[in-house]
Amino acid sequence: MNEIARACESVRLRIQAAASRTGRDPNSIRLIAVTKTVGVERIRQALDVGIYDIGENRLQEAESKLASLTDRPITRHFIGHLQTNKVRRVVELFDWIQSVDRVEVASKIQQYATRPVSVLIEVNLAAEATKSGVPESGLSALVQAVSVMPALQLRGLMTVPPFVENPEDVRPLFRRLRELGRQFDLPELSMGMSHDFEVAIEEGATMIRLGTALFGSRPAIP
Ligand SMILES: *Cc1c(COP(=O)(O)O)cnc(C)c1O
Repeated sequence: MNEIARACESVRLRIQAAASRTGRDPNSIRLIAVTKTVGVERIRQALDVGIYDIGENRLQEAESKLASLTDRPITRHFIGHLQTNKVRRVVELFDWIQSVDRVEVASKIQQYATRPVSVLIEVNLAAEATKSGVPESGLSALVQAVSVMPALQLRGLMTVPPFVENPEDVRPLFRRLRELGRQFDLPELSMGMSHDFEVAIEEGATMIRLGTALFGSRPAIP
């Protein structure tokens, strides 16, 4: 068994354990392999052991990699910051866009979509100035705007909490995202990364986005 296969197996056991602690079905949690900086060969190793969902945050990097994986049955998730001038290409390349955070971006998706696109609204729960995501105060208006765009299938909410040493400290934010999901009747909750996914699962995550836990640590991004 290679290193990635081992990592996948260990992650699956941890997903099961976290799910069973709260009486959840582990199959209700979609594992998205975040493959930024990971080369195609290693991505294939993950696909070989039952990964079907790939997350990328940079369009340029994703373009060439996804082009060489068209022989595989993968669902592609865009999880990075969206610039309006990149939306056209993102719509062509990705099945899910998880990082809709303003009306301008949603309108561009509507403009360029040639098929229904599943989207999540990214919420900046800690209101961090340097991060993408709509602040909670703007969520209601954005949900309403997206809901009337026929090409956008609004499926849920996504969040990237601040990095903290102790994942317990972000539990209230995951809980808050779940409350907001319930309030707006949005079933999908994309929350939880390598160091905090178990807490996110306990709080109701339906999608977790893991890079480091599957592929090891990445080179620092400038
Ligand atoms: C990089 C990234 C992840 C994965 O982070 P890890 O800590 O390596 O699991 C998840 N979500 C987003 C939006 C990312 O950019």
